[in-house]
Amino acid sequence: MFVYNEKYVSKKEGFYYSCPWIEHGLVFFQYKLTNCCHCGHSGGGHSMICNNFIGKKIDWDRIFKVKDMYRRFHKKGKINLSCVGCNFLKEDAWDNDRYINHLYISHWTNCNSKCIYCYATQHPECFKIDKMYSVLPYLKEMFEIGLLKRDSEISFGGGEPTLLDEFEDILQFLMDNYFVRCRIHTSGVKYSSVLAEAINSLLAYVVVSLDAGNSETFQKIKQINCYDKVRENIRKYALKTIFSGRDLVSSKFIIIPGINDTKEEINNWLISNKKDGLYAAVLDIEEFWYIKNKDNIPSHIFDLIKYAQKRAKQLNMFFQLYERLQNMFSDVKNKQNKFSYPIVKEK
Ligand code: SF4
Ligand code: SF4
Repeated sequence: MFVYNEKYVSKKEGFYYSCPWIEHGLVFFQYKLTNCCHCGHSGGGHSMICNNFIGKKIDWDRIFKVKDMYRRFHKKGKINLSCVGCNFLKEDAWDNDRYINHLYISHWTNCNSKCIYCYATQHPECFKIDKMYSVLPYLKEMFEIGLLKRDSEISFGGGEPTLLDEFEDILQFLMDNYFVRCRIHTSGVKYSSVLAEAINSLLAYVVVSLDAGNSETFQKIKQINCYDKVRENIRKYALKTIFSGRDLVSSKFIIIPGINDTKEEINNWLISNKKDGLYAAVLDIEEFWYIKNKDNIPSHIFDLIKYAQKRAKQLNMFFQLYERLQNMFSDVKNKQNKFSYPIVKEK
């Protein structure tokens, strides 16, 4: 549904509010195709392209007609309800061409971790199938007919990608065709030699989920006893970045208030990353907590974020805020118009 909102009416000739995902994005979910996988804002995200998709032949003309419909409405200031409040919406002179350069594979079928904050852990009823249709044939088709750009940002997340039967084949296909902007979110429990090769070839950026500075907190959050194994795999991936691409392997820490929101935990996490050979760190905040508390974020959370940024700088690490924290700072800035914080753009 599209709803008129004066805030999204552009006064500039040829400009309108849209985002890179509406224009050129595609997400493969286990049951649907969407423009994006973002969901931390008030509209809720996951703007739909095709519901009930379980792997049939894709009519690309139809896909782009749906995108054209978004464009038509957005040009009139009528915004898709799922996009309202999203920080990715920007006023721009979008090109309106038919191609994909933002692609996300979000299978949610299997994982070797059981993070307490994971949507799949909290709502197992939504994730009943344990095998997704194969995405590789679509990637090949899109590439062959010129729909998938070689400079596309291609990401895996939602479930553990290394457990997918086709994960290494997909990565190999992307490597063989010189896609240079692959981003893989992994639990780090399973080591993938093809992923290591992709890092070595500077073709993949890997984000390993840790959320902890020691095995005790890790176990509390992940509900698995694999801290040492994940650390070992991080070291193995990091070895691939010795000579170049030092920020290609990164460790992620999601702040979960009441569980890991201490300076000590953050410090231990960053120091362990450094010891393991990492030069990049990513910080985010737990989504359900954020949505519940977004209008009243306690000051100690802001202090913690600033502390993490300062420690990362002292340790000479590339530091990135992930989507929900970017949203959080933008929301605060929009509301109070007095809080300023450097928003770190996605690579
Ligand atoms: S929810 Fe945000 S990122 Fe997703 S399509 Fe809408 S505006 Fe774009
Ligand atoms: S690693 Fe990701 S998919 Fe797996 S349980 Fe954790 S949050 Fe869920």
